[in-house]
Amino acid sequence: MTQPYTSPWMNPELEFFRDNVRRFFAEEMVPHQERWYAQHRVDRELWYKAGELGLLALDLPETYGGSGGNFAHLSVFFEEQAAVGDWGFGVQVHHIAAHYILNHGTEEQKQKYLPRMASGEMIGAIGMTEPGGGSDLQGIRTRAVRAGDHYVINGSKTFISNGAMADLIVLVTKTDPAAGSKGMSLFLVETADAEGFSVGRVLEKLGQHNADTAELAFQDVRVPAANLLGGEEGNGMRQLMSDLSYERVGCAVGACASIERAVRLTTEYVRERKTFGKPLLEQQNIRFRLADAATQATLARVFVDHCIQRMVEGNMDAVTASKAKLWTTETLCQVVDECLQMFGGYGYMMEYPITRMYADARVQRIYAGTSEIMKEIIARSL
Ligand SMILES: Cc1cc2nc3c(=O)[nH]c(=O)nc-3n(C[C@H](O)[C@H](O)[C@H](O)COP(=O)(O)OP(=O)(O)OC[C@H]3O[C@@H](n4cnc5c(N)ncnc54)[C@H](O)[C@@H]3O)c2cc1C
Repeated sequence: MTQPYTSPWMNPELEFFRDNVRRFFAEEMVPHQERWYAQHRVDRELWYKAGELGLLALDLPETYGGSGGNFAHLSVFFEEQAAVGDWGFGVQVHHIAAHYILNHGTEEQKQKYLPRMASGEMIGAIGMTEPGGGSDLQGIRTRAVRAGDHYVINGSKTFISNGAMADLIVLVTKTDPAAGSKGMSLFLVETADAEGFSVGRVLEKLGQHNADTAELAFQDVRVPAANLLGGEEGNGMRQLMSDLSYERVGCAVGACASIERAVRLTTEYVRERKTFGKPLLEQQNIRFRLADAATQATLARVFVDHCIQRMVEGNMDAVTASKAKLWTTETLCQVVDECLQMFGGYGYMMEYPITRMYADARVQRIYAGTSEIMKEIIARSL
């Protein structure tokens, strides 16, 4: 028998928090999941309920309406979200948007936006990717031109999570196209009443159907100069780079919890399912494949726990975060594929969670920096 394993960063306070988060997902998410898959978004009320419970600004200081926790709280939230198979409630992107403001915003920007993001009054999104490209950030074309006390923004973005529902978009623009990475600036764009701003299609995806992933267009949108993040032009690239570990370790946490879920669901299934007069779990080939998957789950857990610990201590580095994102998301896709096979034809039926996991997992090797870009970052450090 294996010894029960407890993550080294867990403690009684986080256990209590986990119980509350689990209850939140069981009561507020699970009963509505099918409807949300069909409508391609969660209900707005979910955001307000999460805000009331302090789940929308978990690691933000209380002075800005946050819950005063740390990356461990966020990890518990992502783990419980993965445990109910949800990828649509865009709380991770919301936290990342809030972090840009917390880490780089002026005091006025922090006071104006963070409490409203914490309560759910404002849903955050991040607008980087454009139809012309996502990996090559310097190639973006969205332009912000100063005009008195405003900037005029023109351009388009695509694949934006929380895109259709967002009230506040951290928008990546070029303020000086000739200056390369030093010509990029981030703007806080309030979508309500923004003349010239429009939401295009909510995109039909392979998976993650309850996520609102949209196209956005900006046509002569006037944004007050006071909404330039940090108040100075040209800092966009530096600001974006500073928070990538936060995003990538967050992805790794969700991927790890999903690997564990896939192994759990499959073990339950092969114990029950009988072929040739005995449970599938008694067939050596099934046992060996599941043993491989369980070993991958343990490796993921140990690596991710190491990363969570370092995030909590504030000493994570970009290369390790990239390794975590790369390895856990690639492994997730392999493990879910193997597990799905053990379900036979039922593994192809949408009513089985493993099927949805297969479709939901695939994008994790693409967003938040593709696997190839992770390898580039890792290789540069060698
Ligand atoms: C569901 C979903 C949600 C998303 N949410 C957001 C969001 O909220 N905000 C946002 O801004 N973006 C979001 N994205 C966009 C996502 O981050 C991009 O799709 C991703 O960065 C890749 O960019 P791209 O699609 O333009 O592919 P490209 O950059 O065109 O890349 C195509 C392929 O070429 C490879 N490639 C590119 N450059 C290199 C290189 N130098 N070396 C080797 N291989 C290379 C890539 O790895 C990829 O395999 C989301 C995407 C999806 C699908």
